[in-house]
Amino acid sequence: MMLSIYNTLSRKKEEFKPIDPNEVKIYVCGPTVYDYFHIGNARSFIMSDIIRRYLEYKNYNVKFVMNLTDVDDKIIKKSIEEKRSSNKVAEDYITAFMEDIAKLKIKKASVYPKATEHMTDIVDLIKALESKGYAYNIEGNVFYDVAKFKDYGKLSGKKTDDLEVGARIEINEEKKNPLDFSLWKKAKEGEPYWDSPWGNGRPGWHIECSAMSCKHLGETFDIHAGGNDLIFPHHENEIAQSEAAHDKKFVNYWIHFGFLNINNEKMSKSLGNFFTAREILKLYPAEAIRLAFAQTHYGGPLNFSDDLLASAQKGLEKLNNLTEKILEELKHAPAGGVLPDLEISEFKQNFESAMDDDFNTPQASAVIFDFVREVNKAISENQNLGAEFYSGLLEFLRKTAEGVLGILDIKSITDKEHGALESDLIELLIKLRTDAKQNKNYALSDKIRDELKALGVILQDSKEKTTYKISKN
Ligand code: AMP
Ligand code: ZN
Repeated sequence: MMLSIYNTLSRKKEEFKPIDPNEVKIYVCGPTVYDYFHIGNARSFIMSDIIRRYLEYKNYNVKFVMNLTDVDDKIIKKSIEEKRSSNKVAEDYITAFMEDIAKLKIKKASVYPKATEHMTDIVDLIKALESKGYAYNIEGNVFYDVAKFKDYGKLSGKKTDDLEVGARIEINEEKKNPLDFSLWKKAKEGEPYWDSPWGNGRPGWHIECSAMSCKHLGETFDIHAGGNDLIFPHHENEIAQSEAAHDKKFVNYWIHFGFLNINNEKMSKSLGNFFTAREILKLYPAEAIRLAFAQTHYGGPLNFSDDLLASAQKGLEKLNNLTEKILEELKHAPAGGVLPDLEISEFKQNFESAMDDDFNTPQASAVIFDFVREVNKAISENQNLGAEFYSGLLEFLRKTAEGVLGILDIKSITDKEHGALESDLIELLIKLRTDAKQNKNYALSDKIRDELKALGVILQDSKEKTTYKISKN
């Protein structure tokens, strides 16, 4: 089936055709690592993860690159506040970022390029722009000359004339044009710097993404994504840099995520109206957060609230209960039992046509919940359903709810069940030991206690009853 994607560049849905028919190359703008990321950032990260998982579901190899901005004004500010190097600040928040995305069940990127590890690529790209006349140097500060790039504004739809009228001219800037932006910033006292043909300094933010995407995905690649706030100026500037340097189209499909809002205002660090992803993960499982996000199309705004997550969690109970039931039934369902009148392939088709329509996750999640309802009905109306039926159900859920949307974790349900079985077995042994003691069979009761101890299960006797604790070592 054909996948269509809404392309910010053309402002319409287009049929998706990757450059290489087997491999899709995606670049997503990642975090600036100066703090824990908030649940608004998490929306962009989760929706890009779902897009990637669906492309993999469609059997593409996906090369997924997410950059880490590890040199930036905000990182420097934090390092001054905390009296430690900006390197250390970035390093700690990269570790926290990796922990949080793993908890959100976001698949690891193929590469997480860091700006500080790509200085040669960045400097080379600025040199190329300078030699082609797109960049100018004013005493160690290098700027991009926006007037030279005739397509400037094609992504955001902004016209340079309107922009110039609206732009504020920053004080102490010697730029030719207020729209010109920094490619290289001259080092200031106490800031980290790198050597360059223009003197010591550090790169501007936009050039990092142009240099790192080219290094890892080539001069032209398939998909570039990020939040709506990045369309202008960040992505507009990336296009200006990459296309001027390479004389080639930079990206074929631009995908932008709507904001996660609070009281209809964008959640952001600067407004102070944010919750970190780690705070929310203490209250709700990753699956509930992912379902809450999947129930709104990635392109539209979404208002964040406690109700949003609570109702997603409630919905998940139905899915988890059904999965538990399937796993249970699979233990004793007969081979060649009854097959009810329920076409799993129809649900699969509906799921795929929803996702093929510009990753319509609200529709795709609705298909999963229709499925839960219909399967429950079939189970209650039929007896002796066969193993083949149950394994078909599990397979469908494994590929869609778990594999693509990430709103189900089958292993955690199996583990929970095993955990319940384990405690039932320990209780049974405790009961047998109590019986042995009552029968004065102390050899047996001691043997049970010692053998359990060897397995790390410590029995604690009190007057009324025996309890146990598990010792990890
Ligand atoms: P930052 O660390 O601010 O550069 O943001 C990392 C990613 O999160 C970028 O793709 C942003 O566009 C995205 N982002 C930031 N705030 C929000 C929000 N409130 N809702 C959705 N995405 C956001
Ligand atoms: Zn970027």
